[in-house]
Amino acid sequence: MSRLIILSNRVSLPQTECVAGGLAVAMQDALSQLGGVWVGWNGKKIEQPFEQHFDILYKSKITYMTCALTQQQYQDYYCGFSNNTLWPAMHDREDLIEYNPKEFKTYQDVNRLFATKIAEFAQPDDLIWVQDYHFLSVARHCRELGMQNKIGFFLHIPFASLEIWRKIPCAEQLMDDLCHYNLIGLQTAQDQENCISVCSVLLKAQKIQNNMISLNQRVTQIQDYPIGVDVKGIQKTLSNLSDQDQYLTNPSAIKTIIGVDRIDYSKGLFERFNAFAEFLDRNTAFHQKVQHVQIASPCRLEVATYKRLFERFKLKVELINSEFSQDNWLPIVCHYDSKPHHELMQFYRNADICWVTSLKDGMNLVAKEYIAAQNPDNPGVLILSEFAGAAEQMQDALIVNPKNRDAMIKALKLALNMSLEERQYRYHKLIKQLIEYDINQWRDDFLKDLNSSQYIQNFDYNHRLSTVLFYPNYSSRI
Ligand code: UDP
Repeated sequence: MSRLIILSNRVSLPQTECVAGGLAVAMQDALSQLGGVWVGWNGKKIEQPFEQHFDILYKSKITYMTCALTQQQYQDYYCGFSNNTLWPAMHDREDLIEYNPKEFKTYQDVNRLFATKIAEFAQPDDLIWVQDYHFLSVARHCRELGMQNKIGFFLHIPFASLEIWRKIPCAEQLMDDLCHYNLIGLQTAQDQENCISVCSVLLKAQKIQNNMISLNQRVTQIQDYPIGVDVKGIQKTLSNLSDQDQYLTNPSAIKTIIGVDRIDYSKGLFERFNAFAEFLDRNTAFHQKVQHVQIASPCRLEVATYKRLFERFKLKVELINSEFSQDNWLPIVCHYDSKPHHELMQFYRNADICWVTSLKDGMNLVAKEYIAAQNPDNPGVLILSEFAGAAEQMQDALIVNPKNRDAMIKALKLALNMSLEERQYRYHKLIKQLIEYDINQWRDDFLKDLNSSQYIQNFDYNHRLSTVLFYPNYSSRI
C-alpha cells in the first residue's frame, strides 16, 4: 500500500502542536491514517553548509524529516525569491517584485535539496504531496532524479494572471517546472483559469479534452480545491471550554470587532483602520460602544518591506487610539503576537463581527474559522473582502471592496445593527457550506484525484478531469 509523503516549508512537529492550525491537523490525520513522512524546514538557521543534515523523528505512524537552512539559503530562498519575488507577484503587487538571479538559483538548490531527500527514501508507489509557493520546482527535480511517482502540488496563495507572470524573468522555467506535477491544486476557479492560461501562453501547452490521451508525454491536471476548515474540531474545542474561559475578550456591553492577520500588505490593514477611524469620526454615538480587537502577528521581519510595514502599522494604531480614546475606552486593542489555535477560537466566539479586508488572499482561513466558531443561537457577522478566495463560497457574508471606504463604513454599520434573525439566517447558510466542504473533504478530494492520476503512460481518460494540459512544446522565446 502506498504511503503519503508531504513536503511543506514548515513542519508541524509534535512538540509544537499547541499552535497547530486546521491545516496542520488535517495533514497529520492523513499521515497517521496512511502512514507517512512529513519533510520540510525545521525553522532553524545554521552558518555552514556542512552542518546541514536531516533530523528524523517518529511519532504515531508519522516520520518527521526536517533540516535547518543555511543563513544564505534562508536569505535567498525564503526571504528573497519566495517572499520578495513570488509572494508580491501572486498578490498583485507588481511594484514590490524584486528579482535576483542568485536568489532564484538558491531557490532551485533548496528545491533540489528536498527532492533529493525524498528520492532517497520514497518507494515507487508512494504518493507525494508538495505544499505551496516555496516548492514550485520540486517535481522537476524529482523527475530528473528518476522518480515516476504521483506528485501533487497545492498552491495556498493566489495564482497570478499572465500579465503579472510576465514580469518575473524566470516565469517560463517555473511554469515548465510546475508542469512536472501530475496534479496542480489551486484555491479558486479564478486561480485555475489563470494557471491554465499562463501554461497555454508561456509554454504553448495544449488544452486537451477528457477523451484525449498522450503516451510518452506529460499530462498535468489543474483543478481548484477551495480549502476548508475543521468545523467539528473548532466546535468541539469551544464546547470543552469552561464558561470563564469563554470570555477572554470583552464580556461588557461593548460590541467587539475581531481582526486576525499577519502584518502583511496583502491584508488591507490600512484600508480597514482608515475606514474604522472614519466610522468613529462620523458616528460619535458608537464611541465607547465598539472596540476593534486585532491579533496582529508580525512576520518576515527580515524582509525590509515587512519591517517598514510593521512600524507604519503600529503608528497607525497609536494615532487612532490617541485621537479617539476616552476614559477607559480604547477603540483598538492590538495583540502583537500569535495566539495558540484554541485561544483564537475564543476570540472568534466572543466577537460580534469579524472584519476581513484582504486586497488579495488565497483563501483566508480566518473568515471560515470565525463562522465555524459562532454560537448558532447568537452568531456574529462576517464582513468579507471580495478579494479573498473565501468570497467565492461565502456570498452570505457582507461582501465589501476594501478600497471603497464608504462601502466599508456602511458594512460595519449594518453589521453592528443587524437583527438576530438576519444574523442567524446568514450564519446557517454559511455554516452549511463549511460543513459540506471541510478540511478533510478538501484533503480527501485532492488525494483521490492524485491517486487516480498517471504519469506518462496509461492515462485514465475516464477519470474526472476539469482540465488537462498536454504539454509537448517548449517556447523558443529568450
Ligand atoms: N493563526 C493562529 N494564531 C494567530 C493568528 C493566526 O493560529 O495568532 C492561524 C489562523 O487560525 C489561521 C491561519 O493562522 O488558520 C491564518 O490563515 P489565513 O488563511 O487567514 O492567512 P495567512 O496567514 O495564511 O495569509
